[in-house]
Amino acid sequence: MSESIEIASLQREPVEGIRISVNDDAWPSLRFNNIAPNVTSAEERDEFIPGRGDLRISLTSACNLRCSYCHNEGQQAPWLQAKTSAMLGNIEKLLEIAGRHGVKSVKFSGGDPGVYPGFFMLMDAIALWRERYPGIRKWGICTNGGPFLAPKKFEALAASRLDNISIGIDSVEPGEPSKPSSPVGVSGKTLVDEFVVPLLRQWNGRSIKFDSVFTGDKQRVLNVIRAARSLGINVSVLEINGVMGTVHAKRSKFLELITETAQEYRLQPRLSLSGPGLRKLPQDAFAGFPDR
Ligand code: SF4
Repeated sequence: MSESIEIASLQREPVEGIRISVNDDAWPSLRFNNIAPNVTSAEERDEFIPGRGDLRISLTSACNLRCSYCHNEGQQAPWLQAKTSAMLGNIEKLLEIAGRHGVKSVKFSGGDPGVYPGFFMLMDAIALWRERYPGIRKWGICTNGGPFLAPKKFEALAASRLDNISIGIDSVEPGEPSKPSSPVGVSGKTLVDEFVVPLLRQWNGRSIKFDSVFTGDKQRVLNVIRAARSLGINVSVLEINGVMGTVHAKRSKFLELITETAQEYRLQPRLSLSGPGLRKLPQDAFAGFPDR
């Protein structure tokens, strides 16, 4: 290929914006460059934040686990840095700006939101923010689930106005932690039985999804997929990648996993470069990604 798409460097990490002064004067320095700028028209860029309108807000640098592959939203791993947390007032300022610039969904992340010191106040605030920022239609959270084994946190989460939750779980093997890459944590089975199943009962109709990181063990991830499907919930499988300078050679096994999962569940590929309803990308749209 003679041409490739260049991914623009991030001007400023938006999540970091919650720690800086966020006001109209600061707006020009905020950029959401999560798609290649040359597949978005100038007109679109003027009116909307390029991308899908999804905003992730890191609530805290702290986490109850220590996964070896942690990317922690581009920061140092939680256990290597001082615990810092976003102020609710700053989150609200960020939401106000985001709401005016086309953000359609917000996802709270960390670290882990379950150990965010302002967690209970946040759950109350979301109900208020839904009325105040009606353009933001989806409100979600991603967690490893462990903090919600505590009854009070579980109750606050269950009663919240969140629309969706992504639960990081890499194993449901007997006797194995939910994230075997972490030296601490509860078993995957405990997490499913004591957190996921009770939440399913209370969150009737709301979206619960597993996020499972593939680190090379196909059977382990297949069993997580089976556990999710047996509960009627969706699962995303994420291939471990080289963020934080570590190289993982798992690609061929990951492709096998995709094939075997597709066969087991009779899945069809969902995205194609020229599928109906999808924007037709240039033929070489992925040329810049050597390992797609
Ligand atoms: S649960 Fe997530 S934030 Fe916590 S250590 Fe693991 S990858 Fe990092």
